[in-house]
Amino acid sequence: MPELTNDFSWSRSRDATFQECRRKYFYHYYGAWGGWAADAPADLRRLYILKQLASRQMWAGRVVHDAVEMALHIFGEGRDVPVEPFIADVIERMRGEWRSSRAGRYRESPKTLALFEHEYVLDLKPEVWQALSRNVATCLRNFFRLPLLAAIRATPPEHWSIEHWSKLFEFEGTPMWIAPDFGFWTADGRLTLVDWKTGGADPDAAAFQLGCYALYAREVLGVEPARVDLLEVNLREPQVTTHVWDDRRLEAIREQLRLSIRAMRAYLVDPAANVARVEDFERSENVRICRWCNFRVVCRPELGAAGAPV
Ligand code: SF4
Repeated sequence: MPELTNDFSWSRSRDATFQECRRKYFYHYYGAWGGWAADAPADLRRLYILKQLASRQMWAGRVVHDAVEMALHIFGEGRDVPVEPFIADVIERMRGEWRSSRAGRYRESPKTLALFEHEYVLDLKPEVWQALSRNVATCLRNFFRLPLLAAIRATPPEHWSIEHWSKLFEFEGTPMWIAPDFGFWTADGRLTLVDWKTGGADPDAAAFQLGCYALYAREVLGVEPARVDLLEVNLREPQVTTHVWDDRRLEAIREQLRLSIRAMRAYLVDPAANVARVEDFERSENVRICRWCNFRVVCRPELGAAGAPV
């Protein structure tokens, strides 16, 4: 197997981490690199395990996305999905993942679920977890009832993209990880790209994300914005919002990407080799975000480690 190298690539989550806190960005994309090896030095391994932590809301979002993807695969094979047994199965698997996280299995197997709430021993009432699984069930029930789903199923599955035509492409020499959650071609030759949402979203972040999908359509599939419908589907409400894009807005996205890439590279001690030094990445001054940061225990130990109130 070729040796893994930490090459620079752009993604929306990388951009969001960079905007949130430079030090967090360093830990996530540089400090934790290589920590997957069981024999990695203890401090490196620690950062890698912290990097994997997900908040309960992130976890719920992931569960819904995975379940929707699975259901679309089943529909794509021409089979039906028995809705309530399917949802019951998803919730049962969530319970298993939750137990695994609470038992701290992720410390030995970092790819298994690692909840922030467990690592930092937050004292949450059972009702909080129950509300989370209820929210997952609601999102999935809403998904199965969507008129959009009926519209998708009325098109041939060969025109769907569940796992995507491609997730990685080059933008002006930088590899980009951008892919919509789902895409399909309509009977009248339009490309529809879908973003499933399970919670409230910051409108600016959502617009940027959809703009990235418009770029994806242009660069990967060669489809101009005028032939693309970008759908933001809030499964909690449920609500489908269609966004239109044009060449001018697409150029604004390109510019935003250029700025983001330039800013990230400017922090590197050796941009060509993608080498970073921790001391070049300042810590956030907003201690409120530190309380919910995966790396709190190593970065701001004064805020308390496991079990400290947040
Ligand atoms: S604890 Fe605060 S300063 Fe440190 S990495 Fe996290 S957000 Fe940044």
